Amino acid sequence: MLTPRQLFLRHQAQTSDFPLLLEIERAEGVYMYAPDGTRYLDLISGIGVSNVGHRHPRVLAAIQGQLDKYLHLMVYGEVVQAPPAQLAQALTATLPARLDNVFFTNSGTEAVEGALKLAKRHTGRTGLISCHNAYHGSTHGALSITGSEGFKNAFRPLLPDVRHIRHNHFDDLQLITEHTAAVVIETVQGEAGVRVPAPGYLPALRQRCTEVGALLILDEIQCGFGRTGTFWAFEQFGIEPDILLTAKGMGGGMPIGAFIAPQAIMAGFKTDPILGHCTTFGGHPVSCAASLATLRVIQEENLLAGVEAKAARFREKLVHPTIREVRNCGLLMAVEFDSFAVLKPLIDRALWDQHLLTDWFLFCDNSLRIAPPLTITMEQIEEACAGLLEAISN
Ligand code: PMP
Repeated sequence: MLTPRQLFLRHQAQTSDFPLLLEIERAEGVYMYAPDGTRYLDLISGIGVSNVGHRHPRVLAAIQGQLDKYLHLMVYGEVVQAPPAQLAQALTATLPARLDNVFFTNSGTEAVEGALKLAKRHTGRTGLISCHNAYHGSTHGALSITGSEGFKNAFRPLLPDVRHIRHNHFDDLQLITEHTAAVVIETVQGEAGVRVPAPGYLPALRQRCTEVGALLILDEIQCGFGRTGTFWAFEQFGIEPDILLTAKGMGGGMPIGAFIAPQAIMAGFKTDPILGHCTTFGGHPVSCAASLATLRVIQEENLLAGVEAKAARFREKLVHPTIREVRNCGLLMAVEFDSFAVLKPLIDRALWDQHLLTDWFLFCDNSLRIAPPLTITMEQIEEACAGLLEAISN
């Protein structure tokens, strides 16, 4: 009989010639366990997913409770099901009153797709603007606004009428015009290597969008759901979006995403054509139950309150001559080294010698990704930093 590792390599589609090949049998809290019992400390949360830790008991209980009632019943938006309805209410309660309508998807990239269609439908315009080095997803529309030529060239033609602006460059805001349907931007750039907006940048962007009637779409797929220390990252920057995107950490480990907009904008999907946006599985009751429990855990276990101090502890400990810079917004962190050639062996040693799971960034390969579950303790942070420094020193 072939082992899971052999089956993985033989029959599961690969996305690179160097997969991690770490085999995990179970996970709990901040730890993942290999079949031989080796315990790995998860410093990246499945790329921003396990914000409340792996298999949080309240998330498991919510899933279990829903399993006893029903799974899929009907395509999106026809049958009244309590989990998505209650989750929609709970999400909007965390947001400015204008953002009162939620469309559920299965993933981040689908949330991007829905929002792009909605912006075109609402404004009657076609222009889309996003940032260089932005990552918004892998489907055609989301890929079109992703800010990396290298990722896109093989898949052209993509969406027309897309322009990219330089992140944090105020001058480029003039490229946003009466032709622009929407500007899509990560509130804090993730795959660019954790790039925090400069003081005044997001307010200036917000103002320019309002001036020309373009919708501002904030992608909080990676930086939302508590990752940066506020429930939504935009709360720290004094602006509000017209459409908000979420996924990843939203599900507490289950697949779910959403785009959130004012009802008057979302109503564009109801007419001309009717069913302007459809999904079979979006708003799956089990995922919604898990997501509502996740939201409640973040609120009721006060996870946001600890984020800043935990990030500060990482910053305090991660001091070494080879570390060039640490960038962070809450527990979305990038530790910069000279090059990928320096970083890659360090990531490998951290994993196989120190049993610490880290990563680099899609568009920033000289920086180490640190984005642990928000539930990580100070002791676990000390353990992680000691291991990382050991891996750096070797
Ligand atoms: N937007 C951002 C900011 C992301 O980080 C990601 C995923 N890394 C996506 C969109 C796409 O999400 P998904 O992988 O769930 O399609």
